[in-house]
Amino acid sequence: MGRMEELVALLNKYAKEYYEQDNPTVSDAEYDALYDELVMLEQFGGLVLPDSPTRRVGGKPNEGFRQIKHKERLYSLDKTKTVEGVGEWMTKLSKGENVDLTLEYKYDGLTLNLTYEGGKLIRACTRGDGEIGEEVTEQVKTIKNVPQTIPFTGEIDVSGEGLMPLSSLKRYNQDAKVPLKNARNGVAGAIRNLDVAETARRGLSFYAYNVGYHKGIEFHYQHEVHEFLIEQGFNVGDYFRVVHDFEDVKRLLAEAEEKRPTLDFLIDGMVFKADSFALREMLGFTEKFPRWALAYKFKAEELSTEVKDVIWQVSRTGKLNPLAVLDPVDIGGATVSRATLSNISEIRRKGIRIGDRVFVRRSGDVIPEITGVAEAVEGAREVEKPTVCPVCGSPVIEKGVFLYCSNSENCAPKIISAIEHFCSKDGMDIDGLSEKTIEQFYTEFGLKSPDELFSLTKEDLLSLEGFKEKKAENVISGIQKAKSTTLTKFLTALGIPNVGKKAAKMLEQTFGSIENIMQASVDDIASIEDFGLITASGIVEYFANEENRAFVERLLQKGVTFLTEERKEGVFSGKTVVITGTLSSYKRAAAQEEIRKRGGNVADSVSKQVDLVVVGEDAGSKLEKAKKLGIEIIDEAAFLALLAK
Ligand code: NAD
Repeated sequence: MGRMEELVALLNKYAKEYYEQDNPTVSDAEYDALYDELVMLEQFGGLVLPDSPTRRVGGKPNEGFRQIKHKERLYSLDKTKTVEGVGEWMTKLSKGENVDLTLEYKYDGLTLNLTYEGGKLIRACTRGDGEIGEEVTEQVKTIKNVPQTIPFTGEIDVSGEGLMPLSSLKRYNQDAKVPLKNARNGVAGAIRNLDVAETARRGLSFYAYNVGYHKGIEFHYQHEVHEFLIEQGFNVGDYFRVVHDFEDVKRLLAEAEEKRPTLDFLIDGMVFKADSFALREMLGFTEKFPRWALAYKFKAEELSTEVKDVIWQVSRTGKLNPLAVLDPVDIGGATVSRATLSNISEIRRKGIRIGDRVFVRRSGDVIPEITGVAEAVEGAREVEKPTVCPVCGSPVIEKGVFLYCSNSENCAPKIISAIEHFCSKDGMDIDGLSEKTIEQFYTEFGLKSPDELFSLTKEDLLSLEGFKEKKAENVISGIQKAKSTTLTKFLTALGIPNVGKKAAKMLEQTFGSIENIMQASVDDIASIEDFGLITASGIVEYFANEENRAFVERLLQKGVTFLTEERKEGVFSGKTVVITGTLSSYKRAAAQEEIRKRGGNVADSVSKQVDLVVVGEDAGSKLEKAKKLGIEIIDEAAFLALLAK
């Protein structure tokens, strides 16, 4: 089979599922991409197969419904995905003149054609294949904003779109046994449903945009049609513009695309129509669409992809939230690789299993959501309900449809605050990491230990909600820069009990290196001034713990380095010196500088690790302590003599 035959067969299968069975298995964007490929092959080779979908509108009417031949054929629309495409079409249409175009939303629902005679709604039909549609009068009568009677008493067909408002979809799906895949599907399945009560339950809405066959009235412009529809009591939505200038068009398209996520119904683009009916007459139709109209399609909001896994994340409150790991797809310019799922009961209701292909929707800045199963794949496996918390291993408790870690006090919240503390100003001082970002890292990447921050890549961050190129770059560079730190900051970041900035500084001054601190005994540490036994044992216990040692090891392996002052060789080489009391020839800081210049290490407090104490006037407790510990003590004169050596 050649590629063309292959495409025709595939597209016809998809069209049947979509139009006739109301059960699509691929997203519109995927269908459109294959369709565009077929159009290209047909144009290139000059051959169009007889059963090509490019020659047909819609699908066959369903046998269960009475079939009605439309008085006037209903068409599809020619499409473009680019603003340039609109520009080219405008140029072709206007031939240098200013041509007024109407601009409307392209509603993404089900086309309906309503026939009124003598002011009464006598029939409603679907578009079907454009010539023959299905009669759905009773179903359409359940739509509250479809007028049953209108002031105009001649014969007229009004066409428009049946839509399921997104708020109705949400409400419906909340307790539906079989949730609807999406709003488009919700409306198509509701109207092409023999059970009228079910149609009524879906809370549909009708948006009128055209008149078809009519007798007893004449129209010369689309804007007249629009006004007529309003006068007759139809809902025409709140968007209708007349434009002729390409700059205006560009601006309006951008504005509409921005507004799209705020609407309570689906639109998948904007529709341009020549306002003048005289011009329309001249332009006519192709086999499939009018030459006087064009649809500008927005970027897709929905695609289908495979569920690779479902993992459970523990929130700050200890709630276990299921998260689908997806085969990454690009939706509207962002890579989507994860989607939230509310709870186990929703997973079951939507029938989502690991290995299935699902529809994923992302609209505006909203978190990607799985709307339903596109294709149930053989061999897919059920999502299992966890019995223990994936973070801490404690048993899971159920509250209604939600699952909680029974030990939430010591679980996720602890991890999140440990990461926050690690990144804080006094800790590793990582720029650009807000509390929200850290929580995102935790929930999206399952970050369990702060060292994992150093393995994050820009690509990882770009997959997160709210991260654009610049922000991702800044955060990554902030993380990488923080690797070069001081021992004091590092010790503070570890989150050892009772070791804040000040204690960490003393530890650095006293021991000089992380290795020395890790080997220090309780006694060694407790001998530092202001360090009690509790703090000292806390530090020793911390480093005695295998996991903590491994954590420090990983941090060093990932490139954390400590800035130290360059040590020179001199009389104080290898010695830790404390100055206490007032010196007459040097200010304290200057004297310390002299010690450092001669290779010495300066500490603020006296401990066993101190080798020498320099005593000035009015020395107090430090002198006492030095004496007690038997540390060498010298006066100012001896100190000056050492400096002079
Ligand atoms: P279309 O839906 O893209 O455009 C034509 C239709 O737009 C008209 O019939 C009309 O009902 C509607 N419309 C909305 N607002 C309008 C307005 N303001 N003025 C006039 N018309 C308006 O074209 P189509 O031929 O009906 O369907 C093709 C589309 O259906 C494809 O682009 C594809 O996205 C989708 N499709 C999807 C699958 C699938 O498997 N997912 C299969 C077949 C078709």
